[in-house]
Amino acid sequence: MIQENIEKIRKIVPKDITIVAATKTRSVDEIKQAIACGITDIGENYIQEAEKKFNDIKRIVKWHLIGHLQKNKVKKAVKIFDIIETVDSFEIAKEISKHTEKGFPVLIEINSAREQQKSGVYPENLEQVLINISTLSNISVLGLMTMGPVVENPEEIRPYFRLTKQLFDFTKKLNLPNVEMKILSMGMSNSWQVAIEEGATCIRIGTAIFGPRT
Ligand SMILES: *Cc1c(COP(=O)(O)O)cnc(C)c1O
Repeated sequence: MIQENIEKIRKIVPKDITIVAATKTRSVDEIKQAIACGITDIGENYIQEAEKKFNDIKRIVKWHLIGHLQKNKVKKAVKIFDIIETVDSFEIAKEISKHTEKGFPVLIEINSAREQQKSGVYPENLEQVLINISTLSNISVLGLMTMGPVVENPEEIRPYFRLTKQLFDFTKKLNLPNVEMKILSMGMSNSWQVAIEEGATCIRIGTAIFGPRT
């Protein structure tokens, strides 16, 4: 099933788009099946869960942190992950900078629907957050990530993807040091087509690859 799902998706996803398999709750065996089908990037949400899987899978794939990062987990996170997609404050960026060497890749997470219960930088605060983070030479900001609101119809998420793309284009023009906008991570199983139409370069797919989570 995993193989069929991946083949179906890869047939319609443009070749220059990175497919990140979102692997929370999936077993090492399932993840290895996906890797055997050509998956090169995986996204995990929790440090502890990722650590267990990392000890088995190691660096045959690129590891993306796609869940919220707490300060006290940073030291472990930078040992496992190749890129942290969920930086949402200067404080967490400073902590990452403290535990890494030059140019650790991160994305800034945007709370594109300004949802109180969700993490991510509010659109109106992005410029200032980026200006602050650009002073940290150990951090390399490579782009933006957004989840967007949970919606029934994927069309309803389009405005939030469009807004995030506008922020991506705007902040690219700022030419800040240590900021090089090239990755735009948005779109999940039910919304990746819309995300690509709106400019995503990276989509994060769980259910459509592995089936529903139990
Ligand atoms: C779980 C998750 C996904 C994938 O969700 P699906 O609907 O299963 O494709 C993508 N991004 C993040 C941040 C996630 O936590």
